[in-house]
Amino acid sequence: MKILIPVKRVIDANVKVRVKSDGSGVDLANVKMSMNPFDEIAVEEAVRIKERGEATEVVAVSIGSAKSQDTLRTALAMGADRAILVKTDQAVIEPLAVAKLLKRVIENEKPDLVIMGKQAIDDDSNQTGQMLAGLLGWPQGTFASKVELNGAKVKVVREVDGGLETVQLAKPAVVTTDLRLNEPRYASLPNIMKAKKKPINETTPEALGVDIAPRLKLIAVAEPKAREAGIKVDSVAMLVDKLKNEAGVL
Ligand code: AMP
Repeated sequence: MKILIPVKRVIDANVKVRVKSDGSGVDLANVKMSMNPFDEIAVEEAVRIKERGEATEVVAVSIGSAKSQDTLRTALAMGADRAILVKTDQAVIEPLAVAKLLKRVIENEKPDLVIMGKQAIDDDSNQTGQMLAGLLGWPQGTFASKVELNGAKVKVVREVDGGLETVQLAKPAVVTTDLRLNEPRYASLPNIMKAKKKPINETTPEALGVDIAPRLKLIAVAEPKAREAGIKVDSVAMLVDKLKNEAGVL
């Protein structure tokens, strides 16, 4: 049983993002980058499945510049066996292009299961997993908070509005991770050292025969409006008066 885990290099979740002064995008200069947090959860889940003896190989894939190798090394240090970098210097690769590239990699690698993040925290698209499953004609279990393998089937508990939904998928299938699925491990120093020896194969969108030219035009990026400071009132009467006459909510 082989598991494929797509991992994206994004701005670290703890960094306060700054919008460029011309509104053309987010400032990436000297900003700490890390693996997309939902993808860390996907790596953890795949490695746990392998540790339970239910998978034989975990392969990480990233699409991006040569710097995405760092992200792949992190996946390798967490326990993935090998990695594939689809190398491109194009700054933005839209979810449909990512899904088409992953489809090609999957046709070559033939995994039984793809586990990926439900969304990348930079573009917040939440599209790639669903599009990939659609392109492959595979079943999908999105927003997973529990994944159980049972022979040719995968049971996925999904976090949906107002509760949990359990679905059963026939393998091969695509699963996307939600926050509560697991708590990803930190890679230990020995494993970071070992990961340096694990192979990363490289390919390109051209070699995979996929046109990744953007289809969308970014119009503008803006900071959210700053919240105005609040005031303290001296009495309930004053509060009611302000709600009535200034805020207009009563
Ligand atoms: P999105 O649809 O952009 O929110 O991304 C959803 C998931 O698709 C991510 O959590 C990753 O698992 C995967 N993904 C998106 N972009 C890439 C990329 N450039 N390389 C590898 N995986 C990606």
